[in-house]
Amino acid sequence: MSEVLDVAKKDGRWTECPSCSEIIITQKLQENLWVCSHCEYHFRLGAKQRIALVCDQDSFNEISLSETGADDRGQIPDEAIYGGMADINACRCIIGVMDFSHKGGTMGVQVGQYIIHLMKMARQESLPLVLFCASGGVRIQEGIWGLFQMLRTTHARNETRDVPMITVFTDPTTGGVSASFSALADVLLAEPGSRIGFAGPRVIESTLQCTLPSDFQNAEKLLSNGFLDRIVHRHDLRDTLSLILRWF
Ligand SMILES: [Zn+2]
Repeated sequence: MSEVLDVAKKDGRWTECPSCSEIIITQKLQENLWVCSHCEYHFRLGAKQRIALVCDQDSFNEISLSETGADDRGQIPDEAIYGGMADINACRCIIGVMDFSHKGGTMGVQVGQYIIHLMKMARQESLPLVLFCASGGVRIQEGIWGLFQMLRTTHARNETRDVPMITVFTDPTTGGVSASFSALADVLLAEPGSRIGFAGPRVIESTLQCTLPSDFQNAEKLLSNGFLDRIVHRHDLRDTLSLILRWF
C-alpha cells in the first residue's frame, strides 16, 4: 500500500499535508485553494499561483523587472518577486508577490529595486499597493548590498507614505523583510499559521539557552500581541482585500 502511495505522491496525483500527514487528492486540494480540508493548513504558494488565486481573471498586467532599470541588458533572470497591475473583485491595485520557492524569497538588490519600483508606480497611478510577503530575509549571498535593501525599501516607503499599502504575511516571513518595508504598511494581514519574525526560533533558543513556547512567532500569537490587524483564511482573502481596497 505504501508503495502505491509513494508512486501517487511522486506523480503529483496525491499530496501529503505537512501538518497532519493526511494524503489528499491533489485536484481536491487545488479546488480548496491549497488549504488542507482536515487541519486547515495553508500550503505555500508560488507567486503566479497566488496572482491567479487573488486577482480577477485576465486583469493582471505584469510589470517586468527590466522596467525597474535594475539591469539594462534586458536579460533579467527570474526573481523572488513578481508583480503588476491587477483588479481584485474589480478594485484596481498594484500587486507584488514574493516567491519563497526562488532562493527562499530572499531580498537582494533586484528584489529591493523592484519593491521600490512598485511603490513609485502605485503613487504615479494613484493606486493602492498590495504586497504578499514570503521570505527568508535578506539575500546573504549579496552581502552588504543585500542588507542595504532594508534601508532603501524603508526609505522608499517613507517617501511614498501617501500610498495606501496592505501587507499580507504568508508562511514564512522572516529576517530583513519582516524588519523593513513589510511592517510599514497601513494594514497588516496574515494567513493562518504563518511564521512571522526576525531570527528563527532555533537560533534564539541556542543563543538564550531556553525553550520557546510552541506558538512563538506564529500569526495567531502576533495578532494577540497587536502586531497584526487580522488573520484571513485563504478562502476569504479576495473579499477581505477588496473590502479594504474600497476604503481607499
Ligand atoms: Zn492537514
